[in-house]
Amino acid sequence: MFSNMLTSLLVLATVCGALASPTSAGNVYSKRHVLNCSNTVRGPIISQAYADAKVLATVASQYIATYGSSDSLYVDYFKTNDPAVVKGYFDAIANDATTQTLNCPVQSAEASCPGNNAFTRQPSGNIYFCDAFFNLADQSALCTASSLPATKSGTMVHELGHALNHRADIAGSCSASRALSVADALANTTSYSCFARQVYRNTQC
Ligand SMILES: [Zn+2]
Repeated sequence: MFSNMLTSLLVLATVCGALASPTSAGNVYSKRHVLNCSNTVRGPIISQAYADAKVLATVASQYIATYGSSDSLYVDYFKTNDPAVVKGYFDAIANDATTQTLNCPVQSAEASCPGNNAFTRQPSGNIYFCDAFFNLADQSALCTASSLPATKSGTMVHELGHALNHRADIAGSCSASRALSVADALANTTSYSCFARQVYRNTQC
């Protein structure tokens, strides 16, 4: 089934890439997180990360639908939480149809965002990407790196977890995410990023 999944994901990635292009912001497809960054280098990178994050969320959702709560990777990250609830959070990212925005920081003080790759403003749900974000690995590194890498797509899943699902910052690393309590595991946005990247690495490479 993963070969079929991969085929459908490739189609999805192409569609999402098209939707995420800067020139599409004003058309009928604009009812989703929309790019608001006119920088001709950084804008396309943000759009690609957004498309890749939707692929990650789709893969994770389909993996949970297939393997459910008995899967060891699921248990590592989400413990005894209801898989339907966890899947729902991934589906919200995969099906994002909001008009929240994806921004390059406009104030110089925001650009470096010390200690952060990106941040989400609430209650707007608008996401801002810092200088460090653009140095993170591409999606393809999930297949080639020696250990699970931080990726732009993973950071996008993390921020979309704030923006769309109101998930929290409790643990920032994958190992710390796996050590959380049942309740914190469900609440922690990095848990979703780590799980989705690991599922992609295990099933799409
Ligand atoms: Zn966060």
